[in-house]
Amino acid sequence: MSNSSKTALVTGANRGLGLETARELARQSWQVILTARNEKKGTAAAQSVSAEAGREVQFRLLDIADPSSIAALAGSLHEQGTKLDVLVNNAGITMDGFDEQVARRTIDTNFYGPMRLTEALLPVMSDGGAIVMVSSGAGELSILSRDLRKRFSDRGLTQQGLLELVESFVDAVRRGRHSQEGWPTSAYGVSKAALNALVRITAPRLEARAIRINAVCPGWVRTDMGGPGAPRTLREGAESILWAALLEGGPTGGFFRDGKLIPW
Ligand code: NAP
Repeated sequence: MSNSSKTALVTGANRGLGLETARELARQSWQVILTARNEKKGTAAAQSVSAEAGREVQFRLLDIADPSSIAALAGSLHEQGTKLDVLVNNAGITMDGFDEQVARRTIDTNFYGPMRLTEALLPVMSDGGAIVMVSSGAGELSILSRDLRKRFSDRGLTQQGLLELVESFVDAVRRGRHSQEGWPTSAYGVSKAALNALVRITAPRLEARAIRINAVCPGWVRTDMGGPGAPRTLREGAESILWAALLEGGPTGGFFRDGKLIPW
């Protein structure tokens, strides 16, 4: 199958690592569906990628923190008969401060967003496709207490059990008890640890369709999120994402940086 007949959808692709990933896939002749939550910024990004790659890149509106936006996108892809070979769950946030609202919004965007989008798009994924969860080394299990670490890494953990754990974090923050209960003062870290656990839990379910799902850490990258002092260029950061998006018949259920398995 040539690249030009393969389709990839990238979230949060109006800037940063998502834009770079969309740009590189378009350069490699993929059909790219570039998504963003802001119409104007997303359209401008899609136009610039289209002009550079000399091929049309579609823009679709998608706010991953809004379940109705996810449902609308999934419905329209289904109606059009679109088949996705690659889904890159890239969109993510870090927020200033730490309280219940920060915990809620960060978890909704960085954990529930990719989870809901993946579930909604599974019916339009091609068998043999790849799903990439853009995670972070900040979600290492070492940020959690020993007891929580055991619960997150428990091989018997179900998706429902994981959701309960994640909700118990938000609840502990609300009660002002998160530190006493073994959680870090980082909603971002917890959201990414949960995303890694989700990947491990989801992978076996997708094996029958040969769909690979992996989490990747791009390293510390010079984007709006990473800041100007980060050591990695956009290109270097996007490499890890592209590696997991493009690998054929490779591993599933793992956490990788630079194409190498890393502990979490
Ligand atoms: P970035 O420059 O801040 O870009 C984040 C992107 O996500 C933007 O396009 C933003 O859109 C989008 N976004 C945020 N919330 C969204 C929502 N609810 N719906 C749709 N799009 C949304 O960040 P980045 O550095 O490229 O980060 C990309 C991914 O890499 C994130 O998942 C991040 O956690 C991960 N990561 C980054 C680093 C790093 O050093 N940069 C390190 C480890 C992991 P708007 O423009 O509308 O805000």
